[in-house]
Amino acid sequence: MKFDLNKIVRENIAKLKAYSSARDEFEEATANMVFLDANENPFQNGVNRYPDPKQQNVKELLSELKGIPTDQILLGNGSDEVLDLIFRAFCEPKEDNVIFLPPTYGMYGVLAALNNIETNEVLLSEDFDIRVKETLKSVTDASKIIFLCSPNNPSGNAFSEEKIKAIVEGFQGLVVIDEAYIDFSGSESWLEKLTQYPNLIITQTLSKAFGMAGIRLGVCYASEEIIEVLNRIKPPYNVNELTQQRAKERLLKFDEVQDEIARILQERSSLEKNLENIDYVSKIYPSDANFVLVKVDDANKRYDQLIEKGIVIRNRTTQALCENTLRLTVGTSEENEKLIEALKEIE
Ligand SMILES: *Cc1c(COP(=O)(O)O)cnc(C)c1O
Repeated sequence: MKFDLNKIVRENIAKLKAYSSARDEFEEATANMVFLDANENPFQNGVNRYPDPKQQNVKELLSELKGIPTDQILLGNGSDEVLDLIFRAFCEPKEDNVIFLPPTYGMYGVLAALNNIETNEVLLSEDFDIRVKETLKSVTDASKIIFLCSPNNPSGNAFSEEKIKAIVEGFQGLVVIDEAYIDFSGSESWLEKLTQYPNLIITQTLSKAFGMAGIRLGVCYASEEIIEVLNRIKPPYNVNELTQQRAKERLLKFDEVQDEIARILQERSSLEKNLENIDYVSKIYPSDANFVLVKVDDANKRYDQLIEKGIVIRNRTTQALCENTLRLTVGTSEENEKLIEALKEIE
C-alpha cells in the first residue's frame, strides 16, 4: 500500500488557509524600501522589526550542513514546539492514537495528553531495544504516528538500522525519529533516507550538541508535502530574531561544535571508566549520547546523597525498566571529577 498523506492530515487542517503576516507579502526586501505595514516602532534597535517568519537564512545554513533542501525544513521554538505541531496537524483528538516505546522522552506522553490523543505504549526490551513485532501489533486503524527516539533518552542507546527500517516500512502512518542526540552517536542519521520514505519525519535540535538550549531552536526534516502542512499551522513568528541571529553565528562555526562534541565524547569514556570503580554501580549502559545511564543499589538514596554534595543528576527509578537507575549528563572534566569524587565519598 502506498503512503497517502491526505489520509493522515486532520480534516480541519487540510481545509485551513495559513495566516498571512505582513512580512509574508514581500519576498525580497531591499534597503531603500519603506515598511509601514506591520505597526512596528520605526526607531531601529536591532529587534524593532518582526523576524523573518520563514527563517530563510538559518534554513540555508542548515541545508548546507545537512544536505537537505530548505523546503524540507521546518523550525520551531525547540523540538517541543515541532512535536506539538506534528500532533496538531495529524492527530484528531479523542479519535486517533500515537505509539511510543517507554522508557523514552517524557514529552511524547505530555503532548499526547495535552492534545487529547490516546497513546499505545509498547515497552522496549530489557536491553532497551525495539520489539518490532509487538510494536507493529499495537497498530490500530486510528494509529497516526510512531515515535522512535534514537539515541533514546534515558537509556542512551541508538536503535539499529534494521529495527528502525522494519518500523518505517511496516507502518502506514508517520514515523517520527527524534534525533536530539544524533551528533554524539556512532550511528548514521536517517536524514539521507528521507527521499526514500515519504512517511518519515526526523527531528533534531540545537539544544544538545550545538550547545544552545537557551535559544530554543528545534528542527524538523520531512518531505516537502509534510513541511507544507506544518508551515501552514505554525505561529507566523515562532522563532524570534535573537534566536535566528545566534543560531546563524553558531552554524557558521560548526568546527567549534565538532570540537566540543569530540571533547564530550572523550569525557564520556573517561566517566564510564571511572564509574566501573564504584562498587554500588552494578551496570553502566552503553551510550550513544552525552549522558550515561547507570544502575545502582538504591537510586533514591544515592540521588539524595549527591544532592547533599551539591550535585544534581536525574533519578530515573520510576520509569519503566529503569528501576534503581540514575542518568548522568557528561559535563566538563572538572565537573565529572567532582561527580566521581562525590560518588566515591558516599560509599
Ligand atoms: C533534550 C531533548 C530534546 C530537545 O528538546 P528541545 O525542545 O529542542 O530543547 C528532544 N528530544 C529528546 C529526546 C531530548 O532528550
